[in-house]
Amino acid sequence: MKIISSKNYTATPNTWMNKERVSQVTEEEMHDESLFSEVIRIRIEPIKEKIPKHVLKVIEEELEKLVMLESSSSEFTHTYDYLDWLTILPWGNFSDENFDVLRAEKILDNDHYGLSHVKERILEFIAVRRLKGTSKGKVICLSGPPGVGKTSIGRAIARALGRKFFRFSVGGLSDVDEIKGLRRSYDNALPGKMVNCLKSVGTLNPLVMIDEIDKLGKRQSDDPANALLEILDPEQNAYFRDHYLDVTIDLSKVLFVCTANVVDMIPEPLLDRMEVINISGYITDDKMHIARDHLLKTTCMECGIKPEQVVVSDAALRSLIENYCREPGVRNLQKHIEKIYRKIALKLVREGASAETPEVSVKKFMIDESNLADYVGKPELYADKIYEQTPVGVVMGLSTKSTGGSTLYIETTSVEEGEGKGGLHITGQLGDVMKESAEIAHTVARRIMLEKEPKNLFFANSKLHLHVPEGATPKDGPSAGCTMITSFLSLAMKKPVRKDLTMTGEVTLTGRILPIGGVKEKTIAARRSQVKMMIFPEGNRRDFDELACNLKEGLDVHFVDEYEQIFELAFGYNMGSPPLNFRRSLTSFMWDLLSGCFL
Ligand code: ADP
Repeated sequence: MKIISSKNYTATPNTWMNKERVSQVTEEEMHDESLFSEVIRIRIEPIKEKIPKHVLKVIEEELEKLVMLESSSSEFTHTYDYLDWLTILPWGNFSDENFDVLRAEKILDNDHYGLSHVKERILEFIAVRRLKGTSKGKVICLSGPPGVGKTSIGRAIARALGRKFFRFSVGGLSDVDEIKGLRRSYDNALPGKMVNCLKSVGTLNPLVMIDEIDKLGKRQSDDPANALLEILDPEQNAYFRDHYLDVTIDLSKVLFVCTANVVDMIPEPLLDRMEVINISGYITDDKMHIARDHLLKTTCMECGIKPEQVVVSDAALRSLIENYCREPGVRNLQKHIEKIYRKIALKLVREGASAETPEVSVKKFMIDESNLADYVGKPELYADKIYEQTPVGVVMGLSTKSTGGSTLYIETTSVEEGEGKGGLHITGQLGDVMKESAEIAHTVARRIMLEKEPKNLFFANSKLHLHVPEGATPKDGPSAGCTMITSFLSLAMKKPVRKDLTMTGEVTLTGRILPIGGVKEKTIAARRSQVKMMIFPEGNRRDFDELACNLKEGLDVHFVDEYEQIFELAFGYNMGSPPLNFRRSLTSFMWDLLSGCFL
């Protein structure tokens, strides 16, 4: 019994170490079943007080069973493994939390530029806990495009709170067993992710980051969303029961932070329990700060280069951001910066290897616009803006995808004209909602035309084709309604819309404009495409007002609740009384002169 004497046994339980020790047992000792139960008893002895009573009872029962079993039987192995898991969990073990708001603020600010709304929320969380003294868990969901810092701010939050950090992804996961474990009756039975997490962090109050919760797989019989609900729901998670362990575990002290690209894709019951914090993406100024304050410094260090050896000019950095890395996040920017530093590292090492004196190691590199391409190659061509001036029948709209906001064009052309030929053909991989939206827009445009020019039979006699590039990307949603009407009317009147204009808004059959989602993402996308004028639904005024000043700066933004207002803004006409034809020719001439758009 020498190997399991309490003197030899280390206080931190470690399954594999114990098993290893057990494997040193002689053949004769191997048949002594009590040896194995002794291992477990010694392990739980120092933490017996902390183990919940109901768990302790199961452990005792299983220990009794273990000594009755033949050590060579599979039942014995299963029972030992089960006891191993049950006793290895960090029962009653909690990290000492930090309730110092100032310290937490410093940690969060050190690592991340901006994201003030996320930081503020975490500081509020600490403040409440300090005042209240209790530590109930919460579910926060950070949503936003890739590379905006969701994961890294999650890590920083854990550090600021003084909690352990654990991350797992549920993207594509459709098997409930992965979350809740597989029952002991199965041969390959094992606990699920949550139990694994507690074992690996060694505390019962870690910060657990559940990644890609919007990409959770689905199963008709056993929906993994229900299993996640048991973990996340504060009403249920104090009594979480893993299929394998089959004892309740209190997860109510865990702080859950989920990440998602698109909130709409999160199963409704899960979304209901979460507090969503949106991280929409960065504009050029933000990226300049992130690159200067964080990315350049860390990459330089990681490549073993001294900071004073490389100077990246502002112009080079701006060019990198605007011509190479236009995504809302900064991961691609980080990759490009790494590329620059890797090349410099190679140059330094090559020159160092061939030089006779070590002075080359203090050589300085200057990266500016003129030599940027030597390091990162030629910039990619972005197709954000395919028209300098949108032609007749084409209007720029705005959309949001999982990768952030983007501009999109609605194109309409007439295919065939003739009495009674009026109709509409739609392409561009549009979903049902968007198809209906196009039909509504067609009807509204026809009504507007009829009101304004009763003799204009364009819609009655023209077969129209509406297309939304890029055709390979599926699109859906109602927010392009007003853009589609404008595109139809532009074609009917043979007049292009104002230059550098974009709009977004759902339209009803009567021409009322309803609010849409993703105001920040869409504004960022509009800025990227050098748009000057934006039209939003009146219902989104508050969302826009809440945006940072540098995002709103220089944009001419209009809020509308009737399509009539868009008509005026897009075509420069007053839809009032004077004959439209006359007004069109005059105003259009004036407008063309002013805006430089000629047909
Ligand atoms: P996500 O999880 O949203 O896809 P990550 O957290 O992996 O993004 O971030 C990608 C990289 O960008 C990380 O190195 C991260 O530190 C950096 N990053 C993102 N946002 C910021 C920011 N606001 N300040 C500093 N670094 C940032």
